[in-house]
Amino acid sequence: LFEKFEALPPDALFAIKARCDADARPQKVDLGIGAYRDNNGKPWVLPSVKMSELQYSQDPSHNHEYQPIAGNAVLGEDAAKILLGVDLYEKDKTVSTQTLSGTGALHVAAQLIYKGDPTREVYLSNPTWANHRNIFESSHLQLKTYPYWKEDTKTLDIDGWLKTIEAAKKGSVFVLHACAHNPTGMDPTPEEWEQVLDAMAKYHHIALFDSAYQGFASGDLDRDAKAIRLGHAKLSKQSPIIICQSFSKNLGLYGERIGCLHIVNPTSASKANIISQLSTLTRSEYSNPPAYGADIASRILSQHELRDQWYIDMKTMSSRIYKMRVELRNHLVALKTPGNWDHIEKQCGMFSFTGLTPEMVERLETKHAVYMAKNGRASVAGLNTSNVEYVAKSIDEVVHF
Ligand code: PMP
Repeated sequence: LFEKFEALPPDALFAIKARCDADARPQKVDLGIGAYRDNNGKPWVLPSVKMSELQYSQDPSHNHEYQPIAGNAVLGEDAAKILLGVDLYEKDKTVSTQTLSGTGALHVAAQLIYKGDPTREVYLSNPTWANHRNIFESSHLQLKTYPYWKEDTKTLDIDGWLKTIEAAKKGSVFVLHACAHNPTGMDPTPEEWEQVLDAMAKYHHIALFDSAYQGFASGDLDRDAKAIRLGHAKLSKQSPIIICQSFSKNLGLYGERIGCLHIVNPTSASKANIISQLSTLTRSEYSNPPAYGADIASRILSQHELRDQWYIDMKTMSSRIYKMRVELRNHLVALKTPGNWDHIEKQCGMFSFTGLTPEMVERLETKHAVYMAKNGRASVAGLNTSNVEYVAKSIDEVVHF
């Protein structure tokens, strides 16, 4: 049965992590995979999560029963509310289902789009998070790209993006990073979002927002949901808005696989029919989503005390990352490393698209034990006050080499 299999290339990011883990050099720095680290370089369990876990462990009613197919309904509703804001959220116009984190939400969304119309074209930003392509390709959808990033100026290619929206087949699906674009860390300005979403409305396209960094990017849930809310205002009267939401980063629940898929304002489509399609799809794939992390997340979203602590936690993470951006840039400037490094400070979210070439990235790894993605994307969360100067000096050396 499996004789014809060939070995496929390993997932690039997980391969970096494996190489870094196996590296015995004590000075090694992991700027590969996007996971938050504290100033000691250690994974961080959010205090709000600890509070929620304590509550859970003391709750005599907890058990390990199956969840319903759509998962934790209270979480689904509260999760939609933080995306849309309580003013825009309408229960009877929103289908929410708990998924296996953001990846699972994207996967289920892709399958649902394919069920709705297998010829539908899906546009991804160029560049984008590498797994987007895997996910949509495995659902057999036709993939196209829209220009996003101008390498020479390190700015957004808004003209190219708008032209692609204009030229795309009516009703195409555009995958939009709601905030903290991965890998560039460069988000459209509010004016650019207006332009993009106006053009999408004009050509009757469908927005699929990938929201993997809400609250993590700026420390403010509302600010990081602005593009989604604008999209709702401009598009929801004519087409459904699809939102894939992850709680990996903003709650630090990476391994618990907690996220949601929301279909907002399905216009003429019946909500009940969408729910039944989703439910059949989910039942055959994983039956029902994980209960523990959903309970932890749901307590935080629904209780004031925990939620207030969560806001503080998101600020702790986003401000530490911002501080590291500033420090890295300042060190590079002080070292007079050739090039302009302002973009490191200006970009937002977890990553910086450094502009380092694949050759420089390779030398960083082999000579200096500094690990990052081949396209020059560095997870800023891997920097701390003990290693940032070392990383800057290593970058300086490879740029000069
Ligand atoms: N979308 C984007 C843009 C991401 O960067 C990520 C995480 N790297 C995800 C979705 C999904 O992550 P998860 O499956 O852990 O929620």
